[in-house]
Amino acid sequence: MRVLIVEDEHRIANSIKKGLEQEGFAVDVTYDGEAGYDLAATEEYDAIVLDLMLPMLDGITFCKNLRREKIHTPILILTAKGQIQDKVTGLDSGADDYMVKPFSFEELLARIRALTRRPKTSLETSLTVRTLSLNPRTFEVERSQKSIQLSSKEFALLEYLMRNANKIVSKDQIIAHVWDYDSDILPNTVEVYIKSLRTKIDLPFKNEKSLIQTVRGFGYKIE
Ligand code: CA
Repeated sequence: MRVLIVEDEHRIANSIKKGLEQEGFAVDVTYDGEAGYDLAATEEYDAIVLDLMLPMLDGITFCKNLRREKIHTPILILTAKGQIQDKVTGLDSGADDYMVKPFSFEELLARIRALTRRPKTSLETSLTVRTLSLNPRTFEVERSQKSIQLSSKEFALLEYLMRNANKIVSKDQIIAHVWDYDSDILPNTVEVYIKSLRTKIDLPFKNEKSLIQTVRGFGYKIE
């Protein structure tokens, strides 16, 4: 899952980034509305955390413009403006959620998790493909009741594949959702991570069908 933070208070922006990275998210930060908008309009994000009072472009205009461009990335407004009317204006501008500062990181994390959940899976916390299950909240991965230990990037990659189960995802899409903008990542890196995932979730289960498929020339698929 990849998140964009648009927040001009560096201290807040950087502490959210750090916290989300510890939870396995890829995170980009911009400190003004215009730079944030450019990224939101051109990169693929799973969620945006947006301040309202921002230099260059305010948060409300940011939301309205993005929605006008038919970009539906979930947006969580995080602001010191806590009046009912502010919330109504924020949500009416196209945001999906609204949180008032000061905030608890736990709650922010829970809300981002809720926003990035696909509608189909909104009632369950775990993602499941055949005998493999992954819980994005507890970081537990199991196959046929056997617990599997993954690194945080392996976990993020598997979560992305499982959220897109039965669909082919390209290396570019994987890079866009699992790594942040500043990462020096080559398509080869994705292959390396896919390989290490296979050795953990497919190889030890020789009596079962392999779950991660390579689709030559296109990318990967889990099914
Ligand atoms: Ca601000």
